[in-house]
Amino acid sequence: MRQIAIYGKGGIGKSTTTQNTVAALVEMGRRVMVVGCDPKADSTRLLLGGLNQKTVLDTLRDEGEDIDLADVLKNGYGNTRCVESGGPEPGVGCAGRGIITSINLLESLNAYEGMDYIFYDVLGDVVCGGFAMPIREGKAREIYIVASGEMMALYAANNISKGVERYAKTGGVRLGGIICNSRNVDNELELLTAFAEELGTQLIHFVPRDNMVQRAEINRKTVIAYEPEHAQADEYRTLAGNIDSNEMFVIPKPMTQERLEELLMKHGVLG
Ligand code: ADP
Ligand code: MG
Repeated sequence: MRQIAIYGKGGIGKSTTTQNTVAALVEMGRRVMVVGCDPKADSTRLLLGGLNQKTVLDTLRDEGEDIDLADVLKNGYGNTRCVESGGPEPGVGCAGRGIITSINLLESLNAYEGMDYIFYDVLGDVVCGGFAMPIREGKAREIYIVASGEMMALYAANNISKGVERYAKTGGVRLGGIICNSRNVDNELELLTAFAEELGTQLIHFVPRDNMVQRAEINRKTVIAYEPEHAQADEYRTLAGNIDSNEMFVIPKPMTQERLEELLMKHGVLG
């Protein structure tokens, strides 16, 4: 069983990309579970057809400790198992706690049994505290970072790789690659390829920006489910295939702010 965590700046496309990739893996016959680790609890919406999934933390709050798997785990597209960790009431407590609680609960209820893949869709620009939980505790050993050619996305990706490096040195966690979710920035492919190489990893796929993603989203579906013949669906199939056959797992080499700016100057929109 491969346990994969997806990180990246907020709004970069982690949840969309994860769910579309998961749908493509399901087409390939893989059995997949998605664990949303974002208090927004929107990591499984496209797989569940918009069904409002009650989060693990809300369920624990309402029903106490003694809960059944069926209370927190819903079956989605292609029999994917879908869980949302949820978060604390706004302004109270550490949002990362929900992730710890959820993973422990899922494990004790044998939720992972029979799965080929577990995907953790994790909020956050930095791998801090509770949000590092899936990798800190050695649950997810494989990390992909979603980025684009925009400076703040690369800045976040570089920061995340610092967190990954820290946990890689003490445990078995490795970076599997950078996923470019394009924002149509000039020279974006070249920039992201150089960025990945500098980190000692690979650009595992360049996902184009396409309005079909939003069209499918408004219909509460992945592109794979909504418009399977569309070219964008094939992009997600390619990404899924690349992840499925990936053999490049590294301890990343994060760069200094100066070096990142140099890369942006050389390859990016300023180049
Ligand atoms: P995150 O989970 O990183 O916060 P989301 O997956 O929620 O980000 O994506 C933010 C928005 O970007 C969504 O409305 C989604 O439809 C849109 N989006 C993501 N990827 C693409 C893409 N490749 N093309 C067009 N729109 C996209
Ligand atoms: Mg998200």
